[in-house]
Amino acid sequence: MMNKKKIFISTAIPYVNARPHIGHALELVEADVLARFYREQGNEVFFLTGTDENSLKNVQAAEKVGEEVAKFVKRHADVFFDLTKKLNISNDDFIRTAEDKRHIEGAQNLWRLTEKDIYKKDYTGLYCVGCEEFVRESDLVNGECSEHPGQKPEEVHEENYFFALSKYEDKINKLIDKEEIKIVPEARKNEILNFIKTGLQDFSISRSRERAKNWGIEVPGDSSQIMYVWFDALSNYINGYGLDDWQKADKVIHVIGKGINRFHSVYWIGMLLSAGIRIPDEVLIHGYITVDGQKISKSLGNTVDPFLLIEKYGREAVRYYLLREIPSSGDGDYSEEKFIARYNGDLANGLGNFASRVLTLAKKYEAFDLIEVSKIDVASLIYEFKLNEALVVIWKVLAEGDKYINDEKPWESGDVKTISKAVSILKEVALTLKPFLPEASELILEAINNKTNLERLLFPRLN
Ligand SMILES: [Zn+2]
Repeated sequence: MMNKKKIFISTAIPYVNARPHIGHALELVEADVLARFYREQGNEVFFLTGTDENSLKNVQAAEKVGEEVAKFVKRHADVFFDLTKKLNISNDDFIRTAEDKRHIEGAQNLWRLTEKDIYKKDYTGLYCVGCEEFVRESDLVNGECSEHPGQKPEEVHEENYFFALSKYEDKINKLIDKEEIKIVPEARKNEILNFIKTGLQDFSISRSRERAKNWGIEVPGDSSQIMYVWFDALSNYINGYGLDDWQKADKVIHVIGKGINRFHSVYWIGMLLSAGIRIPDEVLIHGYITVDGQKISKSLGNTVDPFLLIEKYGREAVRYYLLREIPSSGDGDYSEEKFIARYNGDLANGLGNFASRVLTLAKKYEAFDLIEVSKIDVASLIYEFKLNEALVVIWKVLAEGDKYINDEKPWESGDVKTISKAVSILKEVALTLKPFLPEASELILEAINNKTNLERLLFPRLN
């Protein structure tokens, strides 16, 4: 057994201006596999998720429905919290940035720690509320933000606090280039290196209380200013874990979506370097999910509600689809047709059928004397954030097991050795699958331990 390590794993914290969509479910499930896997390896894991509540977007969304911001934010945060339960996410904590005292104090503490790199400046810029970021004129397409078509950034003129990111350009570049911060996949690493090459600019980290609509975390020592939402949001990772634990961690892993790579791989690193705080080791980046080949958008009405999917097909089926069909660090697609095909092909006819056949035979012939079978090694694939490929490897073993009993036909011979071998293969599959499908694995392992068949059919076939 390897030495027990202290490992921190996080998802990003989403804005709560709308209900969670399937992309949020993807990120939670991916991070959950890592957390469960590292725990299985005997490590001390702290897995954090939560909600980003201090964004101007949330304020605007609340205004739109005429609700008090705090109430609106709480109501939506509850839905995100509920999603972690419904998906059986094993997070150790859930941090809410508007309410959690740890967070508010922690964000202000981080500000103080970086004070030597903070200065005040009169500034005019174009602010995209969608991005919650000042955008460069050169990044606009027909005057609109490329990430948010239809949204014209507003011109803002005010005196703000700035963070001297430019000071850390060389250092950040080196850390990423030498993979002291490992960005996965490679393409996202190159994207950041190219961004750094264009020159890192100092960025605004506060706004007037008025422009923030009196919502957010106050700048320490200046009640007229509210912290820039990203400055406060990024600090959630430390605030949820605790600065002491963060500093002592052997490994810090962030799982994020590709749209916020810059914030994590550049701004966050600059802030931490300035504060003299340990930097993350890995930034693992997933892509976006399209629906029937199209970008998810409210106007197209093609958003997929993860709650409905879970209700209809069960959470382990949803976990499986997201982990198997969507490449962990690339874009992927959802369609109901594909979902049902995966479900029937891999879960009903694959895992469910194999487990049921093998355990029914084992019970009938009392064939639970396990034998040594090949270990399934997916550890390196999980470390490399290739969760979908890990599942491919596991399903290959399943298929071999299936072929083995089809060839040997132990239901005709009643051969106990053959059946025991099949049970042993099934056990190995279930053990390896634990981080991915914790409940199905548990049911299988329990049945094997109790020398009995499954108490219910796993993944009954859909018609
Ligand atoms: Zn934008």
